[in-house]
Amino acid sequence: MPAHCPLCLDSLTDRLDNSPEYCVACREQFVCAEPRCRRCGNRLPPGHGPGRDACDVCRDLRLKWDGVITLGDHSGLLQQAVIAAKQASGAPVAAAMAELLATTAAQTDWLGKVDLVIPTPIYWLRRIRRGVNPAERLGAAIAKRLNVKFCPRLLKVARIMRKQSELRIAARRANVRDGFRVRTPHLLTNATVLLVDDVMTSGATANEITGKMRRCGASRVIVAVAARAPRGETGN
Ligand SMILES: [Zn+2]
Ligand SMILES: [Zn+2]
Repeated sequence: MPAHCPLCLDSLTDRLDNSPEYCVACREQFVCAEPRCRRCGNRLPPGHGPGRDACDVCRDLRLKWDGVITLGDHSGLLQQAVIAAKQASGAPVAAAMAELLATTAAQTDWLGKVDLVIPTPIYWLRRIRRGVNPAERLGAAIAKRLNVKFCPRLLKVARIMRKQSELRIAARRANVRDGFRVRTPHLLTNATVLLVDDVMTSGATANEITGKMRRCGASRVIVAVAARAPRGETGN
């Protein structure tokens, strides 16, 4: 048992019995904290209830997935946690975020039954260099918590792509076009997929992968990301 909450580093004296990875304060801050657009995951302006079909941000965007689940904006404590989870030593932080995200998913009434949890893959050389794929860490813990099949090898990166964070928003869609392959398409037939990543910004990567999985027969794709960055910030 960790002595400190890996997210806020406070002592874990107020730890919950069945959720030892983080403290009560972090759960209250991160789980279903504010109403968000279910289509794009962005925070809704004050006065709007959750579950609208589209918000002012995403109304004119062509989004291929069915919904987005997230803990919150890519800022403050959550942004620090996302950065920490990319490090080799970040396993406890990743586990805490995954637990919180799984709790949020479990409380999301429109999610429905999930068949597969699939992490967004990274290029093998990048993975070796970094030692870890944060999306895979998150996905493994969410699959375990939701008791759903985890498929970390179903997708593969087909070629070297530039990092999305290095590109302007407009160039990101072209960068990832045809950038992914499906190794075992039969698993996707009529499946509801939870596609997991650490951060979503433009959504270009998730949109490309969703289109690919739909062509293989996936019936629903929900994207689960630890943090949602408003368009224009760094991320995928
Ligand atoms: Zn905490
Ligand atoms: Zn929206």
